[in-house]
Amino acid sequence: MANVVDTKLYDILGVSPSASENELKKAYRKLAKEYHPDKNPDAGDKFKEISFAYEVLTNPEKKELYDRYGEQGLREGGGGGAGMDDIFSHIFGGGLFGFMGGQGRGGGGGGRNGGRRRGEDMVHPLKVSLEDLYNGKTTKLQLSKNVLCASCNGAGGKAGAVQKCVACRGRGMRIMIRQLAPGMVQQMQSVCTDCNGEGEVISEKDRCKKCEGRKVNKETKLLEVHVDKGMKHGQKISFTGEADQAPGTEPGDILLVLQEKEHEGFRRDGHDLHMTQRIGLVEALCGFQLAVTHLDGRQLAVKYPPGKVIEPGCIRVVKGEGMPQYRNPFEKGDLFIKFDVQFPENNWISPEKLSELEDLLPGRAEVPVISSEAEEVDLQDCEVRGQGSAGARREAYNDSSDEEGGPHGPGVQCAHQ
Ligand SMILES: [Zn+2]
Ligand SMILES: [Zn+2]
Repeated sequence: MANVVDTKLYDILGVSPSASENELKKAYRKLAKEYHPDKNPDAGDKFKEISFAYEVLTNPEKKELYDRYGEQGLREGGGGGAGMDDIFSHIFGGGLFGFMGGQGRGGGGGGRNGGRRRGEDMVHPLKVSLEDLYNGKTTKLQLSKNVLCASCNGAGGKAGAVQKCVACRGRGMRIMIRQLAPGMVQQMQSVCTDCNGEGEVISEKDRCKKCEGRKVNKETKLLEVHVDKGMKHGQKISFTGEADQAPGTEPGDILLVLQEKEHEGFRRDGHDLHMTQRIGLVEALCGFQLAVTHLDGRQLAVKYPPGKVIEPGCIRVVKGEGMPQYRNPFEKGDLFIKFDVQFPENNWISPEKLSELEDLLPGRAEVPVISSEAEEVDLQDCEVRGQGSAGARREAYNDSSDEEGGPHGPGVQCAHQ
């Protein structure tokens, strides 16, 4: 009993998880008196919540499920019935984006605003380029949302115009009794058609002219969004309380989820940047100088001295030229450059020049002794899978295992003879 996973239902009744059945009963009676819809019509769903909590905690089976597995236990443990989902989302939040929002609904204390129901968070993706994440960016985002009607303050009409729905007695649901056969009836709950489940009605003449009794109006809102230097794909920018407004509800947050667009030149890995640079054989052997345009438009002059060799596929690093760190933008990661060495075409040089070149190149390895019985075979050209497709090539480069793979690494497929 000591380690219940969720205390929400206990909190609703204001008791500790170790409360006896008697204490639960006492707490329930006191609260039920206070929040009964007949006495306290403004308490909203409070009474429903109290009843639900009491019902679960005084039922040994349900209590055990709840203590052990929390909300999930109750949901999966069945014993639902009409209106269950409704009460679940009132008490436990949830909703489509519940898993992304998360904050503000924590257990205990009945929420951050005296138990007021909290509206759903609004989640929007926000596409950003790698340049935006490197340089930071302020952008304006226009969105349409429900705002409490200023004309009636979200009441829907003049003071006193809002009447409890007679048909459902303000519950929004009606129980219908259907006779299936003599002496056999079926009870069904359905949404009240008189009030559309609102539990209240406003007569036509008293209705607010501006919102026509809807209590909210659609408004266009312009949000200024600051994408800070070094932010990451998937990072959220939140605007607290900016989601849809509704009467008696604390508005949820607007959450913008950054979606980093793929970049032509750079690939990001945490604070580091990676790029591939194509060079010729002469650069690989005799040194080079290149200009790399960075994400902020700066040109980096990359120099490599004659005498230092770049092997095909090798990686060199430029320290401190990676991504700025979030909230510490003067600290930057590194820029890794992978070199793709382009060799000359077949017969690019005359045979005489070739032998001159051979004299200049490092000497050959010792010629192996080939026995007279050796079988002579042909070495032919073969297709490299994915050649010409940048995606496939990039993928191969990202795979560190191709380093050791040599010329016969992954991606090479020779035609069958
Ligand atoms: Zn009704
Ligand atoms: Zn209004």
